[in-house]
Amino acid sequence: MLIGLPGAGKGTQAERIVDTYAIPHISTGDIFRAAIKNSTPMGIEAKKYIDKGELVPDEVTNGIVKERLAQDDVNNGYLLDGFPRNMAQAEALEQFSAELDKALNCVIYIHVDPESLMERLTGRYICRNCGATYHKLFNPTTVEGTCDRCGEHEFYQREDDKPETVKKRLEVNIEMNTPLLDFYREQGILHEVNGNQEIDQVFADIKKVLDSL
Ligand SMILES: [Zn+2]
Repeated sequence: MLIGLPGAGKGTQAERIVDTYAIPHISTGDIFRAAIKNSTPMGIEAKKYIDKGELVPDEVTNGIVKERLAQDDVNNGYLLDGFPRNMAQAEALEQFSAELDKALNCVIYIHVDPESLMERLTGRYICRNCGATYHKLFNPTTVEGTCDRCGEHEFYQREDDKPETVKKRLEVNIEMNTPLLDFYREQGILHEVNGNQEIDQVFADIKKVLDSL
């Protein structure tokens, strides 16, 4: 299982893990869509709530992950991403993954300090005139304050990229992750990887952990 705050690089590392180890990537968004599309028993349950605009209860989310883990293509391993999100889900996962003889045996926490994440996540700005997108750290304009594409000087930030919004999102996620990290640390299966490095180095560190299993 992968865990980390938004902007820590989970998506990129998840891709590399599933490519390298040839295991399915179980991300909750994808398996929800698949369960509903294929009208699995839990997919039908979930759809009732989604159609009413209600939150899907943990029992149903757990059921969908369990259905997915029961499939044969996960017999040699799997990568969980975006699940569990709370302790009730974590406890359910512990139980049904063991029942299926596919117990979770490793949690990789990609750690990036929140200050660096703020810089990464609030860096995007957009030219008001032509819509060209830049990033203060990763892709700044060649001349500060001047759009490379159209030469205009006015920029704006999307609501999602504004410091107040990003700060709130990080706080919510820290609150959500903390009990999970404690839970897996206590079980002795939590491995922390420094996410404040080049993408290749982060993956090399993850690989070291996975190869040791
Ligand atoms: Zn422009």
